[in-house]
Amino acid sequence: MFCEKCEGLLLPKDGVMTCARCGHTAEIKDSSALTQVKKGKKKKKVLVLDENSDIATLPVTRAECQECGNMEAFWWLVQTRRSDEPETRFLRCSKCKHTWREYD
Ligand SMILES: [Zn+2]
Ligand SMILES: [Zn+2]
Repeated sequence: MFCEKCEGLLLPKDGVMTCARCGHTAEIKDSSALTQVKKGKKKKKVLVLDENSDIATLPVTRAECQECGNMEAFWWLVQTRRSDEPETRFLRCSKCKHTWREYD
């Protein structure tokens, strides 16, 4: 940044840019716009279901239902608490609609 009057070098002094040669002052350009860059949060898309959700579109996996012994269940992921924790997989029997949570 240089003085617009004498083209001398401007130095920051008491919050303003002051010319070292002629004493001309210029305002320091606001740099806050550069420092306030918002960090974009990466959002994981997680499928959340409740009891009334349509499960017909869900993927199906081979899992044994504890209620009826059926070997096929719909499954979906639910994000629990903090986003840095892994999702919990829920399973729902395709036959009797019994729903349980998968533990690993
Ligand atoms: Zn100057
Ligand atoms: Zn079942």
